[in-house]
Amino acid sequence: MSIKNIAVLTSGGDAPGMNAAIRAVVRTAIFYKKKIYGVSRGYDGLIENSFAELDSKSVKGILAQGGTVLKSARSSLFKTKEGREKAAKNLKSHGVNGLIVIGGDGTFTGAHLLHEEFRIPVIGIPGTIDNDLFGTDFTIGYDTATNTVINCIDKIRDTANSHNRLFIVEVMGRDAGFIALSAGVATGALEIILPEMNTSIDELLDSVQRGAENKKISNIIVVAEGNRLGTPFEISSEILSKYPNMDIKVTILGHVQRGGSPTTLDRVNASIMGVAAVEGILNDKSDVMVGLLNNKLEYTFLQQAIYNKAPIDIELRRIAKILST
Ligand code: ATP
Repeated sequence: MSIKNIAVLTSGGDAPGMNAAIRAVVRTAIFYKKKIYGVSRGYDGLIENSFAELDSKSVKGILAQGGTVLKSARSSLFKTKEGREKAAKNLKSHGVNGLIVIGGDGTFTGAHLLHEEFRIPVIGIPGTIDNDLFGTDFTIGYDTATNTVINCIDKIRDTANSHNRLFIVEVMGRDAGFIALSAGVATGALEIILPEMNTSIDELLDSVQRGAENKKISNIIVVAEGNRLGTPFEISSEILSKYPNMDIKVTILGHVQRGGSPTTLDRVNASIMGVAAVEGILNDKSDVMVGLLNNKLEYTFLQQAIYNKAPIDIELRRIAKILST
């Protein structure tokens, strides 16, 4: 099929580096002399016909900016067939027969349906801080988020050292512990508690005891928000029930993890993936996600990217434990 016009949108949770990906998509489309539309507020914008034609200048100065200039949204209407029908009609009315979506697994589920139900060619660019998509070693935003987390924990370590405290730091990751795992290793955490595995209270208390026996000045426990043991406050209570005199503080890092200027890795990956998404769609690829595996560009079917679990390297947790003694 010859592609006439292309559209790009960002959807779901925002992630640093989305702007770098938008810039790459827009400039590549223009390089190949295609008309390119930016759709604002994700799938809501598709349904509400929020299309704006972009040129090379429209994306100047955004490479280093966090967030997304196209805005993002979580659209409940797009989950209905009527919503998607309206979106498809609007795409067709702009002569768009190539849609590039930047987002996570929910965004890809919607894009897959648009391809399946209305035969609209779609390509996904993995943009989520969670790194939980199968088919790429890194999602855009993950590296920046992890660097933000370690900067914060380094600061927490300073105050923890000054008071001989144990800090429990909650990081984002409802279903995936990538941020917790990398940040835990990178900050010398005593224990890392993940959604992917059961950590027993006994195991946790053993780690705390190990920290006490080694007379560590401060201790950090990193917990992913979707961990199976409980909230950081519940975890703190469990520790206090065995060590009532322990000085424990809880910090929930929250949305700070989504912001900030993207790191080199996120900017480079976003640039590579943005070019590959446009070139993929011009070469009749559809219903796939662009990814980088072992530094090599790969296209993975959206359904595989969504339903297969991105493998977490549990070995890193063992390494963290050895190194935090
Ligand atoms: P993140 O991983 O950062 O949360 P995400 O892309 O998974 O990003 P979601 O909010 O799950 O974020 O999904 C984004 C949007 O994709 C939803 O608001 C909705 O419009 C669309 N979407 C999600 N699931 C479906 C579905 N089952 N059918 C159709 N559209 C969907």
